[in-house]
Amino acid sequence: MSVKIGKIEQILGDYLQDKTYTQVVVLLDQNTRKHCYSFIKDNLPSAKIIQIKAGEGHKNLETCQFIWQEMTNLNLDRHALLINLGGGVIGDMGGFCAATYKRGIDFIQIPTTLLSQVDASVGGKLGVDFNGLKNHIGSFTLPNAVLVDPRFLETLPISELRSGFAEVIKHCLIQDREKWNEIRILDLEEQNLPDLIAHSIAIKSKIVAEDFTEQGLRKTLNFGHTLGHAIETYFLENKPKRLLHGEAIAAGMIMEAYLGYKKGMISEAAVNEIEEFIFAVYGRIYISLADFTPIIALSLQDKKNKGSLVRASLLTGIGHCAYDIHISKSEMSAALKYYTGY
Ligand code: NAD
Repeated sequence: MSVKIGKIEQILGDYLQDKTYTQVVVLLDQNTRKHCYSFIKDNLPSAKIIQIKAGEGHKNLETCQFIWQEMTNLNLDRHALLINLGGGVIGDMGGFCAATYKRGIDFIQIPTTLLSQVDASVGGKLGVDFNGLKNHIGSFTLPNAVLVDPRFLETLPISELRSGFAEVIKHCLIQDREKWNEIRILDLEEQNLPDLIAHSIAIKSKIVAEDFTEQGLRKTLNFGHTLGHAIETYFLENKPKRLLHGEAIAAGMIMEAYLGYKKGMISEAAVNEIEEFIFAVYGRIYISLADFTPIIALSLQDKKNKGSLVRASLLTGIGHCAYDIHISKSEMSAALKYYTGY
């Protein structure tokens, strides 16, 4: 899989140069149509568009059915190309639709949010939510290319930028102490995003290349996600205000850093350093005591588990991460307690 970073007109032009697709279709939502499509329009004079509604609430099989139907209506054959122009929702769902349509057609990811540029578009994990469970249905299929242009972020709401930044933090915490030292002394607005995008992509690509199907090392990318995903899912179903993915992961990283400390894997000073920066960027999510049990129950659904045991990826120091660490319900409860301050 090739990941290219640059001006999208240029890198998309380069990609298409020697291709002979029968048709090119762009999947987008109302926001990426408004803010992003104009960047690539001239590269694709005869492309068709499939537009879906923005948001995690539409990342489901019903929308897939709509996309597959539109692809069928457009008479796409197996030599067509689907371009996913959008955030992680478009990339995950469009990729899944392309990977399954007529047993698979070519697709490329053009990620337009920070989260999708530094994380979701790289690594070939595709899928949709199902009956309230995040990314429950999906596959591992690599796109033909990932084309990243940091200029897309100019129109991204600050809340979305902050959400994506959580994955940048995660990549530093699991792999790169030096970079962590650089980012933790700056506010979000002061960060050098093009540099951090390239840094995150390099880390994730290297890990994925070593362990595509997540048998070992790739699990370290799930740091913060065992409790983070459970919190995200719980809020999606039970709270009026949705939490953004990165907001939930940021909370999960504090909780899981604490779990590492409780297990004697990481120092208290490191946990303090992590929590100080993450609370400064994200604040503290309000989670009530009554929310603990359902959140812990949801973590049992985590795809990294084996049988009924919850297995998490925990830091062994800043810049280092171990995986397949068993964590008990009472440990998760203690971590939630630590985070919430009860
Ligand atoms: P998103 O796709 O919902 O996009 C966020 C919002 O920003 C949407 O409203 C979108 O329309 C809008 N938007 C996108 N680009 C824009 C731009 N340039 N200007 C203005 N608005 C723009 O959210 P996301 O945070 O990008 O992705 C979250 C999804 O990614 C989740 O479903 C999560 O499960 C998934 N994910 C997947 C992986 C993976 O490995 N596949 C990894 C992490 C997250």
